[in-house]
Amino acid sequence: DSPRETSNADAVARDRANVFHSWSAQAALKPLAFAGGSGTTIWDYEGNEYLDFSSQLVNVNIGHQHPAVIAGIQNQLAQLATLAPAHASDVRGTAAEKILAHAPANMSKVFFTNGGADANENAIRMARLHTGRDKVISRYRSYHGNTGAAIVATGDWRRIPNEYARGHLHVFGPYLYRSNFWATTPEQESERALEYLRRTIVAEGAESIAAILLETIPGTAGVLVPPPGYLAGVRALCDEFGILLILDEVMSGFGRTGDWFALDAFDVVPDLITFAKGVNSGYVPVGGVIISEEIAATFDERVFPGGLTYSGHPLAAASIVASITAFEEEQIVENAAMIGRDHLGPGLLALAERHAVIGEVRGRGVFWAVELVADRESRTPVDAAFMGAVKAQLLQRGLLPFIADNRIHVVPPATVSAEEVASALAIIDEALGAVTGARAA
Ligand code: PLP
Repeated sequence: DSPRETSNADAVARDRANVFHSWSAQAALKPLAFAGGSGTTIWDYEGNEYLDFSSQLVNVNIGHQHPAVIAGIQNQLAQLATLAPAHASDVRGTAAEKILAHAPANMSKVFFTNGGADANENAIRMARLHTGRDKVISRYRSYHGNTGAAIVATGDWRRIPNEYARGHLHVFGPYLYRSNFWATTPEQESERALEYLRRTIVAEGAESIAAILLETIPGTAGVLVPPPGYLAGVRALCDEFGILLILDEVMSGFGRTGDWFALDAFDVVPDLITFAKGVNSGYVPVGGVIISEEIAATFDERVFPGGLTYSGHPLAAASIVASITAFEEEQIVENAAMIGRDHLGPGLLALAERHAVIGEVRGRGVFWAVELVADRESRTPVDAAFMGAVKAQLLQRGLLPFIADNRIHVVPPATVSAEEVASALAIIDEALGAVTGARAA
């Protein structure tokens, strides 16, 4: 489709006639249509441009249409488009090698999957087989994917209609702004969340628990950056009770937080890491599990009972090699850290000074949430109508946002420039002013 041949209305009509959408009642859907993109910019069929501060589903970390990633995929396509997982290929081995080069030193192998959900699915399976234990503890306020165990490990509304896997339980993690632990400082929040986790482990029977599965920084749940000591404390509990720690870096990995992995900023070494999204920015669907030497060794002589036709698909592998190489050469992780530190963080905090509707701003790198409240004292979230109005105002001004509950997630590509951040901040400023002004009038 070229912008001249297809209108937005044509693309939407064809979609609504034929495509069944995720997580939605179908009848009232009004999707936006997009035809192309470049870097942080995306445009529709009529040439209207938007700054993509959603990174789609927080996955386009390298920006749209990065030429090196496209060339990497095209070269592989011309050479060998598909290959069964049992065979070896240089591109698959190199993709795993490049991922491991940025992972903690105890990691030794990569198992490739089709996306993030099945990465968590297989990590949970490995943990159960390695420990001979059954239960998995994860958090309320989390998302781990839309398959059997991953959706039941999830801690948001999407779990409830899908609760068919067994052996899962949930705990509340730290979230000082809406503390479950009557805490007033990050230290208290961390200590009390850990004490509650310890009591849960003991009450459940430590010998029955295979793994604790956590998003290093819960993403869709609100970019809940853990307070000092929390992740190290979880690791200590895992060591004490012989439980494995799985960190889900599907959204937080590969530059999102201004580090290669979000865990790099915390004093924690997991046993398994799951990844997807930013590893290749979703140019080809892929995910995987990074496996510690110890867990990998479990399956040296013993069969791992799991696999996928497209595990380590050559086009996915080529896109990973090209993407990580570009990240290294263009210092994209460093850019994300600089943007967060010098532009996006200070800029969003300045907006909070100007707009009483902003209750809290939190994040790092290019991974931020702006939580909107009806009243700063009670911290009551603004309602869905308010968020709808904010979204409309942002879109009208050319910013494509990621909205979740009462939050704007400010999550541009890791390649975003300071100028693009300045434009986006000005748009958010105007949009909030327009909605709160209209409400006050
Ligand atoms: N884990 C986290 C933290 C995620 O954010 C997501 C997707 O949003 C997933 C897992 C699931 O990944 P996928 O949609 O690729 O299956």
